[in-house]
Amino acid sequence: MFYISTRSADVKLTAAEAIKQGLALDGGLFVPTEIPTMTMEEIESLTDKSYAERAYDVLSKFLTDYSEQELKACITNAYGTGFDVEEVAPVKVLDGGRSCLELWHGPTSAFKDMALQILPHLLVNAIEKTGEKSKIVILTATSGDTGKAALEGFKDVKGTGIIVFYPVSGVSKIQKRQMATQEGNNVFVMSVEGNFDDAQTGVKRVFGDKEFNEKLNAEGCKLSSANSINWGRLAPQIVYYFSGYADMVKNGEISLGEEINVTVPTGNFGNILAGYFAKQMGLPIKKFICASNSNKILTDFFKTGTYDRNRDFLKTASPSMDILISSNLERLLYLATKDCVQVAEWMKALNENGKYEVSADVFGKLTEDFYGNWADEQETLAAIEKEYKSSGYVIDTHTAVAFSVTDKYMAETGDTTKTLIVSTASPYKFCESVLEAVSGEIVVEEEDIFKPLDTLNALTGVKIPEGLAGLKGKEVIFSDVCQKEEMIDVVDDCIKNKFSEI
Ligand SMILES: *Cc1c(COP(=O)(O)O)cnc(C)c1O
Repeated sequence: MFYISTRSADVKLTAAEAIKQGLALDGGLFVPTEIPTMTMEEIESLTDKSYAERAYDVLSKFLTDYSEQELKACITNAYGTGFDVEEVAPVKVLDGGRSCLELWHGPTSAFKDMALQILPHLLVNAIEKTGEKSKIVILTATSGDTGKAALEGFKDVKGTGIIVFYPVSGVSKIQKRQMATQEGNNVFVMSVEGNFDDAQTGVKRVFGDKEFNEKLNAEGCKLSSANSINWGRLAPQIVYYFSGYADMVKNGEISLGEEINVTVPTGNFGNILAGYFAKQMGLPIKKFICASNSNKILTDFFKTGTYDRNRDFLKTASPSMDILISSNLERLLYLATKDCVQVAEWMKALNENGKYEVSADVFGKLTEDFYGNWADEQETLAAIEKEYKSSGYVIDTHTAVAFSVTDKYMAETGDTTKTLIVSTASPYKFCESVLEAVSGEIVVEEEDIFKPLDTLNALTGVKIPEGLAGLKGKEVIFSDVCQKEEMIDVVDDCIKNKFSEI
């Protein structure tokens, strides 16, 4: 199997090459040249398998240049011990034909772990397979979840180092503590004076500094990125759609072959797109319900066919979905049209005018599979409260957006197809909003950042994930703040002085 860019089919790469490179040279994203299939017999066989075995069955169809032994080692490293439940991604059955796929049982309590626990191992293999001699330093700007998940994934992985920048007042207190206490001998964390855009722009500037990168290369070091445009992050996310379906068959919620709907709380469009790949492979999915918060650019796209980022950026209680450029949508446009020239034109228009419009034909095709809607701040908290009051089940703010939009879809269409709702974070990660919703009281700011966790635990009886409870006793290792102009010097200094042994 080979990979091409969404913007031109000229260059064909192996999976290892695509994973090592991250982004195509023409700015496009890598997509497989063909989509492999899973037969109904193969899907049935998953019901009796562990998550690791399911992962092997799906990933081996895409990563054909990885040997069985290599791929199995990557999978064992990723899903062997780091998750707090044996199932890795368990399904919780709720009322009204709804099931919830919990993707936050990994070390950092958000769904980013599902991919970032395995990506470092896929990358290390890719480096070996392609004869790369340099060590790889991952450079990431984060608004919260990605940074910590990448740190946990790359910590102590040989031949790699990781540097994370986050905006000094742009992440939650728990997220900040998670990163500040990061252990490992190849990790470095620094906060940046400014907002997420400042941190992101600073990182892009380091990547774009030719002279600096040439100097690093000469010293045997290459910069790379861990964000969600890398195929090595997308492919592992396809697995859990098959896993969730297999569990619904196993627990008798559906029969084999029965179609389901899937709701995904969406930001960068990576998670939901992985589900679309699963459908293309043969998983019986009828509709994808694309759930947005007040930054509802995707809702507007699926309602009108125009993607328009000329609007205000809103800060919400579901910050990991606060996004105006959903990068992975580019892959959907390619899959729906198979027309690289057209995709390149749309992306150029987005870059130059902040918008593009697809033809009626393409729009019709997309809306056969996708329905978009959104939940505002009040509806988000109301969804948490409603679910807690009716079933005792506690959901986080991102998942709540998906619950609210699922209700809207059902009311609007009368569709009673069984629905799998994707749950992307532990409620404890966005604890203050969740506590406010379930207790009905405004949470006052506490000196002790762990107090709201204990209060939510006392109220609901839901266990605090170990990764978060364990932060309490951990030493703060990283507390420095830099100016955005200083980021390149920080990277230089870190590679020279802290990563000399990796
Ligand atoms: C990243 C994230 C999302 C959005 O996922 P995309 O793949 O970017 O659409 C949703 N919820 C949480 C908790 C996240 O961390």
